[in-house]
Amino acid sequence: MQLPLMPTALPPLKILVVDDQATTRFVLSQQLQEVGHIVVQADSAETALARFQQHQPDLVLLDVEMPGHDGYWVASQMRAAEAGGWTPIIFLSSVTQDHSIWQAIESGGDDYLVKPVSSTVLQAKLRAMQRLRRMQGRLIELSEELRIANEQLTRISVEDALTGLPNRRGFDSRLQHEIVAAQREQQPLTLVLCDIDFFKGYNDSLGHVEGDACLQRAGALLQGMCRRPRDYPARYGGEEFALILPCTPRSGAMTFARALMRTLEVTALPHPRSAVASHLTMSGGITTCIPDASTSVEGLVRRADEALYAAKSRGRNCFFSFEMQMDTREQRSAGRTAPGSAAESGPQPPTPRDQ
Ligand code: GH3
Ligand code: MG
Ligand code: MG
Ligand code: MG
Repeated sequence: MQLPLMPTALPPLKILVVDDQATTRFVLSQQLQEVGHIVVQADSAETALARFQQHQPDLVLLDVEMPGHDGYWVASQMRAAEAGGWTPIIFLSSVTQDHSIWQAIESGGDDYLVKPVSSTVLQAKLRAMQRLRRMQGRLIELSEELRIANEQLTRISVEDALTGLPNRRGFDSRLQHEIVAAQREQQPLTLVLCDIDFFKGYNDSLGHVEGDACLQRAGALLQGMCRRPRDYPARYGGEEFALILPCTPRSGAMTFARALMRTLEVTALPHPRSAVASHLTMSGGITTCIPDASTSVEGLVRRADEALYAAKSRGRNCFFSFEMQMDTREQRSAGRTAPGSAAESGPQPPTPRDQ
């Protein structure tokens, strides 16, 4: 029984009709256009492939028997041409043998209809394919949403929410990466741990909201100090920040530290409870080495932390170099050492290679 064709409730499809017989193409196209679909026609294998590329149809109705290349060949070419994609292909053939159907599916087809095709059957198959295509579209959307969510999660997991700087997790993995790079390149690597002086007093005096805003400003200031592309500022925790400075020797690290102190002085963020200045200051511990196989994140952090402790005990508002065993004040008064001088190679504290 032939049912009347109902206009499709699903959105119309762009359908590529491939058949070497003009009459078949005409009848099929009429049937499809009547229910609102858009039709593109091709009368040979080669034209079919060209139109497939050019029009990117939603579905292909593909004749099997054609002069030259047959429909199986066309289907396999279409599948190869859309790696990762999937356009439904329905074969149309007057052959009813099992092996033809088998070959059709093997070559990349999704269904097989025997000609002449009733309008109702064709319509039903198209609806099924539309549903599948819609689900496929939803799956693609979902996997894209998942990819974006994953990207955001990865970013959030290494970012400090308050300052927007990398957090401790990001710092750890970046430092490990830079240790390996510096060892390979045989370049000096500097780590600076900075700690805001008397920050408890700042909070006690102005409140934690102002304290948070101050940490944000301090983070932005450190970010601004990092001019080279591989310089890496991070919030280490609380009111402590870390700076990874690749290709930076001991004297360069001291120069950097003095520039940072100067920037803090010029920026002059008021600190009502500091015992060392009227503005916000930091103390810092510096360690510099050309890493070798024994150099570790923990080893570098331990040295920088020890140096930071020394800076604090020397009155704060200064940076202390673990390898040079001197702070920024002493280094300055030691005579603005040029690279290659005694201060550059340093006195001989524990070598940076023996961590
Ligand atoms: P020092 O000069 O020895 O470093 O003294 P300090 O007061 O800075 O150090 P202390 O370790 O005694 O106090 C650190 C303070 O930092 C205490 C804590 O309330 C504050 N702090 C840590 N994390 C945050 C934060 O996320 N927001 C705010 N507002 N304060 C923080
Ligand atoms: Mg034919
Ligand atoms: Mg601290
Ligand atoms: Mg502090």
